[in-house]
Amino acid sequence: MYHITMIIAIDGPAGAGKSTVAKEVARRLGYGYLDTGAMYRAVTWNALRTQADLHDEEALGRLAGESRLELRDSHILIDGHDVTEAIRLPDVGEAVSIVSRAPQMRAHMVIKQREMAARLGDIVVEGRDIGTVVFPDAEVKVFLTARADERARRRVIELRGKGLEIEAAAVEAEIAARDRIDSGRRVSPLEKAADACEIDTTDKSIVDVVDIILRLVAECSTR
Ligand code: C5P
Repeated sequence: MYHITMIIAIDGPAGAGKSTVAKEVARRLGYGYLDTGAMYRAVTWNALRTQADLHDEEALGRLAGESRLELRDSHILIDGHDVTEAIRLPDVGEAVSIVSRAPQMRAHMVIKQREMAARLGDIVVEGRDIGTVVFPDAEVKVFLTARADERARRRVIELRGKGLEIEAAAVEAEIAARDRIDSGRRVSPLEKAADACEIDTTDKSIVDVVDIILRLVAECSTR
């Protein structure tokens, strides 16, 4: 008997519900979980800390190559610093899409993501380019979307939960700016893989979305 590793790729714009849904799918299936956005955020945190030039793509590539990323339980560490909370703060949110445009940086990140996934076995991976670039052969590919005002509303609730009071309009503007840069970059833009299943989460509960994905996984397992 042999077991083929199952990869579930979940992509989509900011605030579409990827993290909540991906974590719950992983929990229900007993799979590993990889948040690639947290990895891009951690390198961005390092770029800000070291005052790197965010428009110097080669320097960002070097920084990504030299940075030591570790995942421990639900914590993320970079060069020994636990940045789990710091990467969610607005300064990182404002810079992450600019840093993530750099092709040299992305090349390093894709290698690290494949290595981490290989260690975790069956896995749910969330990001922007998982179904298109990182794991184009993933068994299940999902592209989550939601209306812009709903995505901003969810993000405001998430930030309030962390004790941050930010105006909904400012959050909506940050999300729109990130989506514009993520969708417009020349390497690995945010886009739906041709064979991904698109789910609009605007009027759906988390449970509904998770159930749809679990059905896709079940269909795939019987193929
Ligand atoms: O998922 P999250 O919103 O935390 O991602 C933060 C940013 O990281 C995205 O807006 C994008 O610029 C970048 N990212 C990426 N590719 C991924 C995951 C995230 O470019 N696979």
